[in-house]
Amino acid sequence: MLEGFQTAATFGLRLFGVFLAWTLLMYLMHRLAHVVHPANPLWRIHLAHHRVPYLSMPDRSHWPDPGQFLFWLGSWKLSLDVIISMTVPLLLLTWLFPAEGLTLLVVHYLYEVFLSETRLDHNPRIKGHLTRFFAWGHYHLYHHVNLKRNYGLIVTWWDWLLGTARMPDEHRIPHLIQKRQQRLSKESSA
Ligand SMILES: [Zn+2]
Ligand SMILES: [Zn+2]
Repeated sequence: MLEGFQTAATFGLRLFGVFLAWTLLMYLMHRLAHVVHPANPLWRIHLAHHRVPYLSMPDRSHWPDPGQFLFWLGSWKLSLDVIISMTVPLLLLTWLFPAEGLTLLVVHYLYEVFLSETRLDHNPRIKGHLTRFFAWGHYHLYHHVNLKRNYGLIVTWWDWLLGTARMPDEHRIPHLIQKRQQRLSKESSA
């Protein structure tokens, strides 16, 4: 009984450690994707994510589209963006820590299919204390306004530690996002 508890506790601790490493790698990949330079393919791919008009998407609670179950997020750039910044770092960790990595791969899959997009990451109704710890709602939406802040994915910790966190002014967020998106769509149609 005690042995079983110890094994579970050890696994839990290791799982948390691998999760920490994964969130750090995602943070770094996302930050790298924001190095604006013609020779940076990550930026060209990631730009597709910033062009999605999340605030004007009609329904925030619909069942995921069939393609989403296959990690098709609407275009090859949007899918590749998630695979490069989230899946590849986790596959690397899975190679080093198979049991913990496989567990997190399941979490990653379910999160991407059911929870990211407009449910958590881009849900303007999520604000306040929760967004101090989780990169959801207003916290992540502020990244869509200010591309030099709030790089953290899923959690905010690395932004706080590395000096890139910014808690947005809740009332101005929707207005700022709309302005930013109008500018991006003008740029892309020019
Ligand atoms: Zn970004
Ligand atoms: Zn986003």
